[in-house]
Amino acid sequence: MFDSVIIGAGVAGCVAARELAEAGKKVLVLEQRDHIGGNCYDEKDEHGILIHKYGPHIFHTREPRAYDYLSRFTKWYAFGHEVVANVHGTLIPVPFNLNTLHMVYDKEKADELEKKLVEAFGMESRVPILKLREHKDPDIQQIADYVYENIFLHYTMKQWGQKPEEIDPAVTARVPVLISYDNRYFQEPYQGMPLDGYTAMFEAMLDHPGITVETGVDARTRLSFAKEQVFYQGEAFTGAVIYTGPLDELFDCRFGRLPYRSLNFDFEYLDQEDYQGHSVVNYTVSEDFTRITEFKYLTGQKAEGTTIVREYPFAYTGAKGEIPYYSIANEENQKLYEKYQKLLCEIPNVHLLGRLAEYKYYNIDAMVLKALKLTDELKKSC
Ligand code: FAD
Ligand code: UDP
Repeated sequence: MFDSVIIGAGVAGCVAARELAEAGKKVLVLEQRDHIGGNCYDEKDEHGILIHKYGPHIFHTREPRAYDYLSRFTKWYAFGHEVVANVHGTLIPVPFNLNTLHMVYDKEKADELEKKLVEAFGMESRVPILKLREHKDPDIQQIADYVYENIFLHYTMKQWGQKPEEIDPAVTARVPVLISYDNRYFQEPYQGMPLDGYTAMFEAMLDHPGITVETGVDARTRLSFAKEQVFYQGEAFTGAVIYTGPLDELFDCRFGRLPYRSLNFDFEYLDQEDYQGHSVVNYTVSEDFTRITEFKYLTGQKAEGTTIVREYPFAYTGAKGEIPYYSIANEENQKLYEKYQKLLCEIPNVHLLGRLAEYKYYNIDAMVLKALKLTDELKKSC
């Protein structure tokens, strides 16, 4: 019946499905949730406000291929996303940049520190906090201490349950200190939101005669794996199978669970026009939640009321209803991941793709590119 089965209708699954369908394949997409879009899914709440059910998602990329690809399925609400941190009641721009520096220190001191930063790293440079902390100059160390203590330490403890220096350095390097006056959270040339939302964009992507989507189906009830073969509903299946879910759960966690961080989202509708005047406020020195998102400032939607969401991180346990959001990159976890990966290495038609299946911290654009790369290869080989 089908040439290819794709498990998961997130970015990875949707892009892969569309690409294979356009190459003439009949594709079945199985999604366990009752909707498509994966963690990018958005919907209107009961007050008509477009919310991101699994946390705020802002598209940003420097890769024309990723932007052009998604632009086939959506127009854009283009904006430069800005974030502020609430530090003891004062809102300061994050990433920490030269504007932040001038808010935190008096003019004379800030001018002096700016000169030192520019001399040390160059204007327009991006310096990870862990690198800034290694600098020998006592003045630069002073800035590093401020940034570490007020932006990174408590937020990272909440998000990861570990200190910044204990987690993969690539994670904190996502939000470097900027030696510039750019207040935007991302510096890539393309950034914004799908004009009609992410769900509409994925609906357009899956709207192809070669694609069948079934939601509310856990693929593990349809697929099984033997040493060298994959079975669909009990029959050997030789077409491409693309799996985008957690790898350990595909094998009932037989070697133990791959660790993830999860999040609880606490949504609140407020019968007032504005709550915080910003799309995202990070709480970097206080509170149990990491950040508050006010959706109308993300999407540009005009509405009388406003909906916000607070994010509370916790360690994923696999309990019913919990969702694994963030893989935790370290050597031990990578070894465990590879142990699971070996279980599939003799089944050449099964491919792992996505934030969960590859146990990697991908943004949307990287996911689009990775899905295009895989399907380019698959199209060549069959
Ligand atoms: P997912 O979106 O997780 O999709 C996987 C799908 O597979 C899910 O729908 C799941 O239900 C389904 N599935 C799993 N197992 C099975 C099964 N057994 N059977 C059937 N279906 C199954 N990226 C950005 O670029 N910008 C942002 O601002 C941004 N913000 C983020 C905020 C948060 C809170 C999080 C967690 C991530 C954010 N990301 C952001 C990253 C972005 O969410 C990911 O890059 C993207 O969702 C990855 O897509 P995916 O298809 O790999 O995974
Ligand atoms: N981070 C932080 N304080 C902030 C913003 C980020 O400590 O105000 C750290 C934290 O460890 C976080 C990481 O930087 O997990 C990456 O932040 P990013 O916003 O990229 O995370 P995302 O929510 O996109 O996964």
